[in-house]
Amino acid sequence: MTAPSPFQIMHSMSADRSGVVGRRLNRDTRRRVFSFAAPYRRTIVGFVATIVAATFLGLLPPLLIRKVFDVAIADHNNTYLNTLFIVMVVAAVGEAGLSLVERWFSARIGEGLIYDLRARLFDHVQRMPLSFFTRTQTGTLISRLNNDVIGAQRAFTGTLGTVVGNIITLGGTLIAMLLLEWRLTLIAVVILPVFVLPARRVGRSLQDITREGMNVNASMNNTMTERFNVAGALLVKLFGRHDSEAADFSARAGRVRDIGVKSAMFSRVFLVSLTLVGSIGTALVYWLGARLAINSEITPGTLVALGLYTVRIYLPLTSLSNARIDVMTAFVSFERVFEVLDTPNPITDAPDAVELVDPSGAVHFDHVSFRYPDPAEGTPESLGGSESTASLIDVLSDIDLDIRPGQMVAVVGPSGAGKTTLASLLPRLYDVDDGAIILDGHDVRSVTQRSLRRAIGVVSQDPHLFHESVAANLRYARPDAGLDDLIEACRAARIHEVIDALPEGYDTIVGERGYRLSGGEKQRLAIARMLLKNPAIVVLDEATSHLDTESEAQVQEALATALAGRTSLVIAHRLSTITDADLIVVLDEGRIVESGTHEELRHQGGLYEDLYETLVRADHAPLT
Ligand code: ADP
Repeated sequence: MTAPSPFQIMHSMSADRSGVVGRRLNRDTRRRVFSFAAPYRRTIVGFVATIVAATFLGLLPPLLIRKVFDVAIADHNNTYLNTLFIVMVVAAVGEAGLSLVERWFSARIGEGLIYDLRARLFDHVQRMPLSFFTRTQTGTLISRLNNDVIGAQRAFTGTLGTVVGNIITLGGTLIAMLLLEWRLTLIAVVILPVFVLPARRVGRSLQDITREGMNVNASMNNTMTERFNVAGALLVKLFGRHDSEAADFSARAGRVRDIGVKSAMFSRVFLVSLTLVGSIGTALVYWLGARLAINSEITPGTLVALGLYTVRIYLPLTSLSNARIDVMTAFVSFERVFEVLDTPNPITDAPDAVELVDPSGAVHFDHVSFRYPDPAEGTPESLGGSESTASLIDVLSDIDLDIRPGQMVAVVGPSGAGKTTLASLLPRLYDVDDGAIILDGHDVRSVTQRSLRRAIGVVSQDPHLFHESVAANLRYARPDAGLDDLIEACRAARIHEVIDALPEGYDTIVGERGYRLSGGEKQRLAIARMLLKNPAIVVLDEATSHLDTESEAQVQEALATALAGRTSLVIAHRLSTITDADLIVVLDEGRIVESGTHEELRHQGGLYEDLYETLVRADHAPLT
């Protein structure tokens, strides 16, 4: 690589530079960026060395052309001409080869860096506690993993290559020119600002336009993604909003069109002014140089060589005048990546965490209190950290609950009482604020998360399935399970017949865009997945949606198998579960207000009796 093309300059300008100008590089950021570059030290040296070699090789042709005029033509020397031709071809081939080598180096560095950053980000983000995901916008996160990672990579290949290449091209060319004819060189350099300064101004306007273009494009894309998913499309249809949606979209697309035209014109003005600088500069050199040649002060060959060199100094100069912004932009991307990497993770394994081995399933909630963490804490504002969703009062207060191994505990209570929250504390989706949760004598915070989560199987109301085959979804719980194991689990969960009847059986793709299973079927599949995991403790959130009698009976049977011999905490919505439970806990506003068996609670005249009566009426079941 030698001088960058105007297109390269334009390309590097399209990066988002908001807030970049006038910033200073933070020393820690700089050190960290270099630590990411450290593994590529050798490749970077190779990269820079190739650029240097290619640049010097690029200086050769004008000198050879000079010899063509001054020696070969002047002396009618055919042999010399042949030699010059061969050297030119060799130089061209060499330059082409070096360009390939340089690209290989830059791709290795760039793609390697993208890989490192992405892998680190993904791993860090997926380990973040649930509260992080409830606050952070998925789009923002994905943009960090895509755009910012690529922006950061540019620091090392694009900017590094451009800056190094341009400095060398400029320095080398100027030295060669000065050696050839210093007066003409000075003239060529002196007229530069006259042309370069306006070009820079156009370039800046172009940056603003580009940024605006990105915004209007993003807004148009958002409209499309929101309207073109199933839920959005349904809403548009049901409210009959096609016409107004079309008008709204046209307005957004119209802005994209207008900014596109503006951007095209400014790009061309920028490009034209750069070309003009080169052409006029060259013309000037020939005009003044030819006078010197007429007076025999320089040879025609020197004149031609100077003309050729002149073109090569303008582009690097323009591009270097933007280099600071380029570097800053790349560093801003790094900072945005670091911001995610630095988001603290409050739920980690204690340094002395022990493995939970074969737990019997004894669970004790020991005076547990909890409130949802303040979103402003921990999560950077740019990731959505300031959107307040926290309740300022305790969601759970002084929960004291003892569950013996193998017991089934039903949690009931009005909506918003804290049932789901209670269940999510057990696998440490959140940590308690006061008190402790003791599992087989261990505080859950003192065992490894891996062994804790192996011991607990969670089946939620609307279980998530990945867009993969049924078998792959089941194997998520146990990757080494054979088909026989899958079938056995699915039989126990009363879902085998349903899967067997699917178009491709266990290979049928399910999940968001795949084959749609009904709510009850999905829950039974989740039960099968949980059975494969074979945990000591089961946390189950029963579906509130009304199941028809048949699937109700099947879910019932599936559950009976699933819960047999395991400790279970069930957020119960169905009469049969409640009446079967060994212990019923009634939650209200985050407190346990009643607890006991169905028989004990039934005639107490408390909240349980109200809830029970409501369920009985809703179920039309005969009173027991
Ligand atoms: P239930 O399962 O009994 O309906 P939840 O445990 O879901 O109740 O919710 C208990 C309370 O906690 C509710 O007031 C709810 O608004 C609040 N809450 C639930 N999830 C969050 C969250 N992620 N952040 C902040 N508050 C929450």
